[in-house]
Amino acid sequence: MTPYTGLDPRRIAENLERVRERIAAAGSDPERVEICAAIKYVPAEELPALGAAGITLVGENRAQDLLAKQERHAGLFDWDFIGVLQSRKVRDVAPNVRLIHSVASDSALRQLERHPAREVLVEVNVAGEEGKAGIAPSELRAFIERCPVPVTGLMTMPPFARRAEDSRPHFARLAELAAEHGLSRLSMGTTQDYEVAVAEGSTIARLGTVLYEGALRG
Ligand SMILES: *Cc1c(COP(=O)(O)O)cnc(C)c1O
Repeated sequence: MTPYTGLDPRRIAENLERVRERIAAAGSDPERVEICAAIKYVPAEELPALGAAGITLVGENRAQDLLAKQERHAGLFDWDFIGVLQSRKVRDVAPNVRLIHSVASDSALRQLERHPAREVLVEVNVAGEEGKAGIAPSELRAFIERCPVPVTGLMTMPPFARRAEDSRPHFARLAELAAEHGLSRLSMGTTQDYEVAVAEGSTIARLGTVLYEGALRG
């Protein structure tokens, strides 16, 4: 995937508006779903275009990129971490973000004890996929109890699916687990499946492609 350069804020704003319409059409309240713009393909110099388009929350995947982009544009957005959380990066990420979406290992918990985050979500491997990041539903309660910082919700990336509809049971399962554990935030849904995700209760959609597609100048 090549980086997006030459983003036009007006076109991003149109994409954002269309996303909100689709969230409403899916039966959810657009006011209650936060749109977290995934910025792994957006170079630092393009970020002001996102701000001008009305994006207020961004999510980065890599610790190094997070710090570099924040250094230039800290005040422009709220910042979340949405990538795979390597425990040795917790120190860099935790103090600098609103929310870590992807806490999924005991080594990360040990680092969080030394470098507290404000708030975290636990990533859940809802479908029990081999080799995939995420806590098993059966181990969730104990994991949350071991977490040294406040856990306010859950995140999942469902198994690869050709049709968004195939992800519905996994989103529904995550919502059920959040309810069982009294957690209010649900980070689920990307470009290909956010409509299904919000219909199942997502409170944070992590969107990249749908915001930037067709938004290049010229
Ligand atoms: C890139 C990314 C997204 C956004 O993906 P799109 O398909 O571009 O919407 C969401 N979540 C995570 C964890 C990502 O890395």
